[in-house]
Amino acid sequence: MIEQDTSPGLYIHVPFCSAICPYCDFAVVKSSGRQQRSFAELIAREAEWVARSGRWPAAAAAFGTLYFGGGTPSLLDVSELRRIVEAVGEVLEVDPDVWIQLEANPEDVSDESLAGWRALGVRSLSLGVQSFDAAELAFLGRRHSPEQAVRSVELVLSAGFESVSLDLIYALPGQTAAAWRRNMEQAVGLAPSHLSCYELTVHERTLFGKRRRRGELVEAGQKRRGELLDLTHRFLRQAGWPGYEVSNFASAPAHRSRHNRKYWNHTPYLGLGPSAHSFDGVDRRWWNVPRLGGYRRRLAVGQSPVEDAERLSRADLRLETVMLALRTLDGIDCAAFEHRFGVDPSSTRAARRFLDQGLLVLDERRLAPTLAGWAVADTLALELDLEMEE
Ligand code: SF4
Repeated sequence: MIEQDTSPGLYIHVPFCSAICPYCDFAVVKSSGRQQRSFAELIAREAEWVARSGRWPAAAAAFGTLYFGGGTPSLLDVSELRRIVEAVGEVLEVDPDVWIQLEANPEDVSDESLAGWRALGVRSLSLGVQSFDAAELAFLGRRHSPEQAVRSVELVLSAGFESVSLDLIYALPGQTAAAWRRNMEQAVGLAPSHLSCYELTVHERTLFGKRRRRGELVEAGQKRRGELLDLTHRFLRQAGWPGYEVSNFASAPAHRSRHNRKYWNHTPYLGLGPSAHSFDGVDRRWWNVPRLGGYRRRLAVGQSPVEDAERLSRADLRLETVMLALRTLDGIDCAAFEHRFGVDPSSTRAARRFLDQGLLVLDERRLAPTLAGWAVADTLALELDLEMEE
């Protein structure tokens, strides 16, 4: 168990992409130089609004992480990224030693961009490799080649970041276990410090969703997905990369994601930019309007960019806690859970059943999923929570 950093996290959603991938359901727009150039000012304006409106508690601890996600943050010029870092630092409390992480696409990596990101204080880089196979990259609509992916990883690794993560996608239609294994072998062989391996999910309102409706695309079935998830964890564990979350693997505990772990632990986080979500660490969550145009219009007339908010009930928080914890290697800390919610999840009939079935293990009052349990983690969470309600 790694000690959790409890400082709040700051997320900046950069919505620009050079083209929209056919599986993507994030809030993104095709990049345009004009819109990009004014984006930093929009974030600066929102940060000011957050500080003025008191939406983020003034007494909150300083932000310990600053995550540029998207979209493709690496499309912004370093000067624009710098303007954002400086603008948020002027009006919000940011730790001087903040952990800055940036998502980048291989085609944006060059000696020049790397030097700029390092000078800005970026400490961790996530590279959207997705695959090392030319046909798979073409299917996913990505703009880089396998050679470019390898070259960009090598460049990033030699640039001196404290952590380098590669994103990969698996469970593509027709993808064999051997093909997926080759991708993992290549990733591990390049020796980054972190890997995120995501199952391809087909969302209704994407081009892939349309192709599925027309019968042109058939997703991998549930059984196949389970097999590939199992292969992923077994292969990477053997290679010295034990999964610490269902989709995340680190070469050493120190390389586990600092920012994403805040989402999994109900640590407060503030999101700026279109579609960004925020959580106050207690029970209040809010999110911004998803489209860049609406976001821009609201800020231009001094209005709040927040689309809606919700107050989570105790039952909502309990279910979320179980769901998030069962996606992690650490699982549920039953003593802390009982202190917070008045019930010990390990004492439920469902927990005993799942322990008997080898889907969960109980170790030092931690209820954690096994590899088989990870494949059905959401179902386990729902059943456990249902019994705690009784
Ligand atoms: S690069 Fe990433 S964020 Fe942009 S469209 Fe593709 S998947 Fe979506």
